[in-house]
Amino acid sequence: MADYYRTLGVPKNASDEEIKSAFRKLALKYHPDRNPGNKEAENKFKEINEAYEILSNPEKRKIYDAYGEDALKGAAGGPGGFSGGFGGFSQQGDFSDIFGDVFENFFGDQMGGRRSSSRRRGADLKYKAEISLEEAFNGAKIEIKYDKRSSCKTCGGSGAQSKSSVKKCPSCGGRGRVQYSQGFFSFTQTCPKCGGSGEIISSPCKDCGGLGIVKEKSSLNVKIPAGVEDGSVLRVSGAGDAGEKGSSPGDLYIEISVRHHPHFERDRQDLIYELPLDMADAALGCEAEVPVIDGGRIKIKVPEGVQFGKILRVSEKGMPYANSRKRGDLLVRVKVETPSHLTSEQKELLRKFSESLKQQKEKENSSFFKKIFD
Ligand SMILES: [Zn+2]
Ligand SMILES: [Zn+2]
Repeated sequence: MADYYRTLGVPKNASDEEIKSAFRKLALKYHPDRNPGNKEAENKFKEINEAYEILSNPEKRKIYDAYGEDALKGAAGGPGGFSGGFGGFSQQGDFSDIFGDVFENFFGDQMGGRRSSSRRRGADLKYKAEISLEEAFNGAKIEIKYDKRSSCKTCGGSGAQSKSSVKKCPSCGGRGRVQYSQGFFSFTQTCPKCGGSGEIISSPCKDCGGLGIVKEKSSLNVKIPAGVEDGSVLRVSGAGDAGEKGSSPGDLYIEISVRHHPHFERDRQDLIYELPLDMADAALGCEAEVPVIDGGRIKIKVPEGVQFGKILRVSEKGMPYANSRKRGDLLVRVKVETPSHLTSEQKELLRKFSESLKQQKEKENSSFFKKIFD
């Protein structure tokens, strides 16, 4: 008599969660897809399924605990067991739907969400691409090189050495699912022999070992749209790993990072440029040249008396908005620089200038006090 608890490696008082998690681990380990042609793994997989079907169902578990496995075979008896052939007494009841769903959901989770097959969708891949601010401004075409799993060219992804080595699975007759009975109920599940593919490969492809997938270097030309921001992620649909035996491939996600620029800081669509000005130009006002991201330089007017940190806005000279002709602004931030290493002549001029400032201030003060006293 089978000991279902021992089969799943859990204690008699195991919780539903423990049972489920033990089953998941074992089912994935012994899944026929992972052990092609391994008879022992196949049997083990059947045993695990059998144990789980009973222990995951509170009613059945109660009966099994009290009376043992035979009590569950009920009226059907004999060949209806899980580990026997999949014939026997068959009756479509509510339970079969519920069980079917449980099983589907479980493998749907694990194998990538396809209901009718356990073949996995290819994995999504990540790639980091670095571009310059100019490339982000103009848009760019970049070539990226990466490793991915591709469909094997030798066997066309089938995993078989030749067409004749692909045979209809004898267990499920090519349907990928099997129906079997247990007592009054009948259930369907993914065929454990072929793992749901409906096919058995007698001689696997030598290049890919029967997986239908090989690892290879891949390259791709990707268009980066103008205005892209640092940290944006582009998705290239279908450029990820190939799926198992013809199932859909994963996607490639390209994370864009925009390199630091020697002249410009970026604030979304605005660009910030710091303009150094000596104090005379700041005080008197001037015309200054500033670089622009389009290339080259433009002239801007700096008003007299401009203060440190003042921002002069040049409209429409920033980064483009995505899918739009609009552009952000160029923000010119004034940085007034105090002169150092002055000549004695310049120092003399500054002293005179300073003297003049003091006199001006005194005049202002005295007229201010005069007003108050008056
Ligand atoms: Zn192959
Ligand atoms: Zn099958």
